[in-house]
Parts: sequence; structure tokens; C-alpha cells
Amino acid sequence: MKRYILSLDQGTTSSRAILFDKSGKALGTGQREFSQYFPQPGWVEHDAMEILAVQLACISDCLKSTEVSPDDIACLGITNQRETTVVWDRSTGKPIHRAIVWQCRRTQQLAEQIKTESDTFRRKTGLVPDAYFSGPKIAWLLENIPGARALAQAGQLAFGTIDSWLIWNLTGGKSHVTEPSNASRTLVFNIEDLCWDDELLQRLAIPRSMMPQVVPSNACFGTTNADCIGFEAPILANLGDQQAALFGQACFTPGTAKCTYGTGSFLLAHIGTTPRLAPGLLTTVAWQLEGQKANYAFEGAVFIAGAAIQWLRDMLGIIASSSESEQIATSLASNEGVYFVPAFVGLGSPWWSSDVRGTVTGLTRGSGRAHLVRSALESMAYQVTDIARDIADHGITLEQLRVDGGATENNFMLQFQSDLLGIPVIRSAQVESTAWGVATLAGLTAGLISGIDQLSAGWQHDRTFTPAVDRSAEYRRWQFALKAAFAAAELDWLIPSS
Ligand code: ADP
Repeated sequence: MKRYILSLDQGTTSSRAILFDKSGKALGTGQREFSQYFPQPGWVEHDAMEILAVQLACISDCLKSTEVSPDDIACLGITNQRETTVVWDRSTGKPIHRAIVWQCRRTQQLAEQIKTESDTFRRKTGLVPDAYFSGPKIAWLLENIPGARALAQAGQLAFGTIDSWLIWNLTGGKSHVTEPSNASRTLVFNIEDLCWDDELLQRLAIPRSMMPQVVPSNACFGTTNADCIGFEAPILANLGDQQAALFGQACFTPGTAKCTYGTGSFLLAHIGTTPRLAPGLLTTVAWQLEGQKANYAFEGAVFIAGAAIQWLRDMLGIIASSSESEQIATSLASNEGVYFVPAFVGLGSPWWSSDVRGTVTGLTRGSGRAHLVRSALESMAYQVTDIARDIADHGITLEQLRVDGGATENNFMLQFQSDLLGIPVIRSAQVESTAWGVATLAGLTAGLISGIDQLSAGWQHDRTFTPAVDRSAEYRRWQFALKAAFAAAELDWLIPSS
């Protein structure tokens, strides 16, 4: 009987395929890493053909790891790293260049230019123009790859974020589609009208013919081609990774929020069915279901979270593993005045400054590795607090924060987060919130899961952290450390003085 959901979770450093039953139990998993290319400082690329091959291998690994027959797979859901840009030739099916990854800064100048020109991009897309998003990356490819513009003008080239690329291949080239949560990360998608915006496309000189068709997040995106993955099943859900986690954490009503702490951190707060702008935050489509209005979220993005712990491990060599960080941090009773602003690639929300750099303040002769480790963990919580306070300033008061991601293993960090926010921080029992989120949407579409109420009722927590210590003095000092980082980069204060 067809009762299982295959979830494809295509991330920044690895891909996964997880087979779920309707209760959220993972029956099989395949996970593989793939190559990261850094052709110049600040540039990051992926090989889209490798991403496809690795994803197919994950599906095969996943199916081999379970007794379930592919004939029992009712549907697929796809979730993916967002913004990463692939342009391919429709006739050969081959990308014209490596994919430009969301982290890549090569389009910073163009992004700055459109940001200073007018507020049109911000107003229509809900995004702060930045190298992060897809539109400038498409413009870069058309400008820099010989022959690309002529091919694009002749209708030969297709653009897609990774979801579109995978769906196009999984359906044997039949579907060139995406949905609003991914489209809303491109800087050329009008989040109110839910369509590609001609004015924005024209400003970036992107032919409309390259763009995928935008369908609801729970549309039928096509049927998998047996020649490609060995079985046929409909793809019934597609969401960007952060929006999938919001869905997986059952944040379905205004004011509910989740934060995923991985390499970076992403806090999304549901704001209802009317988009609005808040300085410092992104407004993004959370999902749009067939026949319904879109749901929107405020999003705060922290670029360096768990990556600061990786840096301590890989560059400084002062810890052997990420998990060791908790015990080292708690060997101190406090941070003893040491603050670490991990602005290695600038700072995201709410500052959006590309030029600020990493800074450590408050060092004394007695400061050692424990201070650096503790301050790195604290910085994850401070950065998320900066975002939550901005969200509160724009009328969304969080009553609790649901959390997931690799770094939420760290109990010290989550307790510190709860202290700072003054609200419960709740770790989900479902460790795969992202993959499960899109699986539930596919399951709902297929009729395996009866409704959103069932998902809300079924959501389970692993552990709740409640506020225990007043950290307001420490938070104040974090803001001084931020000011020091801005000063070191010779930037004017972005932070209000009170
Ligand atoms: P991503 O999906 O972004 O690759 P994951 O959700 O797999 O990230 O989380 C990995 C990140 O979490 C790494 O940056 C790692 O340093 C961090 N991390 C993992 N375990 C811990 C821990 N116990 N304490 C702090 N950070 C951790």
C-alpha cells in the first residue's frame, strides 16, 4: 500500500533522502556530502550535476536501508538550500556554469548598486538587496559566460533554484517549475502578486523566458521518471529549507516562530497572510497552498552561528569536536567580560553590513580557550536575540521559540538563549524538522495526513528551556562589542545608543 513519503533535503554541504511514515518516523535515510568550490576569496560554487548525482545516490542508499518497496512510496517532497542559482541549457540539460551558492559574494557590487538606486526591490520582494539572493547571480552568469546572453534571449536557457533543477531532472525535463517560498528568495519575485516582476527582471536584464513557472507549494510538480530514480511517484510538495522547518515545527499561526541553528541561524516568525516590511528583517513567503492566500514570515538571518564553533575547531584547533564546546563553556561561571562577534562575512539581520569583520573584545591576561568557546556559543544566542527584539519592535511578540538544527544539541546555548529572550525555548523531538516539514506538506496533499490540526496536535517537544537568569547586563555589553566591531571596520554606528 502506498503510505510512505520520500523527503529529499538538498542542503548546502550535504544531501539527504529520508523515507517517513505518516507519524514522522524515519524508516530509511541516505546522506552524502558533495564538493564545495572556492574559486576566489568570497566566491562559493557547487557542481549542479554532482548535486543531482549525489541526490540520486541518497535516494538509492535510503531505499536500500529499508525493507520498504519503492511501490509503497505515495509521494515525494523536496526541500532545498535556497537562493543557489543554476542556469542550464534546455536542449542539452547541462548547466552553463557551476551553480553560484547563496554564500557567494561575487555580486556584492551589483546588489549595492540596486540597493542605493531606489527602494523598488525592497518594496516588491520583501528582501534587502544583497549578493545573497538569486537575481544578481543570474545577471552575473548572463554577463560573464560567453554566449549566455544570446542563448537566453533565444529562449534556450532555463534558470532554477536547486528545487527547480532537481524537479526538472527527476521528471525527465518535463517540469520547469518552482513555488513561492523559493521564488521569494530571488529578488525578482513580487511577494504580493505572487509572480515574477517584469520591472525587476528588466532592471537585472534577465529574460522572462528563463524563469520557471510558479505553482503553489503543494501543487503536483510532476511525476518522477522511472529511468531516473527507478520508480514513478508524484512530487507533491516543495519548500525552501527554512520555510520547511517552519512548517515542520507546526508554526501555522501569526506569532509562532522557529529558529534553526546550523552553520548559520535562521529565525522565521509567522506574520499571517498580509506581507509587510520591517527594517532589518526580510519578509518572505512561508508557503502558499492551492486555492489559499500565501502565508508570510519575517526572517532574520545570522550568517555565522555553528560555523564559529567549526572555526575554533578547524582554524584555531582549540577544540576537538563541536560537542565538546558545551562542557568547556560551562567550566566558566560567566564569560568574564569576553565577547566574540563572529562577523567573518559581515553581519546579516538586522544590520546587513558586508564590511564589518570578526572581533573579540574584553580579553585579559587570564582569558583562555574556555572564554573563546563560551563567547562563541553566547554569540549564537545574542545574534538571535538581536533579531527577536527587532521582530518584537514590529508588533510580533514571541511567546515561545521552537528550535532545531545541529547546534541545538548544546543545552548551555539553548538555556542562555531562553535567559536572553525571557521566553521558553523548546527543542523539537523531531530532529529532522526540515525534511519532515516538507514530508508533512506532501503527506497532506496526498491525503495521508488529515489536516494541519493533526500536525499541530502531533508536534512533540524534546526539552523546554525556561528563563532562569537575568542576562540584560550581558546583552548590553554584547551591544558594545558590536559597536567595537563596527568601529574596527570604520563603520558608523548602526546601533541606537540607548
Ligand atoms: P547545516 O545544516 O547548516 O550544515 P547542521 O544543522 O548539521 O548544519 O549543524 C552543524 C553545525 O552545528 C556546525 O556548524 C557545528 O559546529 C554546530 N554544532 C554541532 N553540534 C554542536 C554543539 N554541540 N554545540 C555547538 N555547535 C554545534
